[in-house]
Amino acid sequence: MISQIEKLCLEKNIKLTENRKIIAKVISKSTDHPDVEEVYRRAQKINNNIGIATVYRTVKMFEEAGVITKHDFLNKGRARYEALENEDHHDHIVDITNDVVIEFFNEEIEKLKEKIAKQHGFELVGHKLELYCRPIAKLK
Ligand SMILES: [Zn+2]
Repeated sequence: MISQIEKLCLEKNIKLTENRKIIAKVISKSTDHPDVEEVYRRAQKINNNIGIATVYRTVKMFEEAGVITKHDFLNKGRARYEALENEDHHDHIVDITNDVVIEFFNEEIEKLKEKIAKQHGFELVGHKLELYCRPIAKLK
């Protein structure tokens, strides 16, 4: 099956080499917002001829072309990536203890954001929400 990234590349006339296709597939299939090193590790499992430089270049190119989204959770300077979703908007919970990112969607928050924008005389065109969290200690 053709991935979302491949589809967008076709629309934008981006040539997809075999390596680019593998990288596109890896990012499309990942739900954990991997960084470049992790994308590289996963791509290597599919084709161990892929070099880290190719992965860096391709990821940067995908990002600049707007076919993937770059995140820098907590502004740590560690870029992590995910495939663009069509209308499937979501926000992120960043578990700062385990360095895990969880996606969530909340209808009330979405409505509230629009309401706040409206109250200030604006029409909401986009937003980004990240919750930085620590797991609640469970009693044994
Ligand atoms: Zn996400």
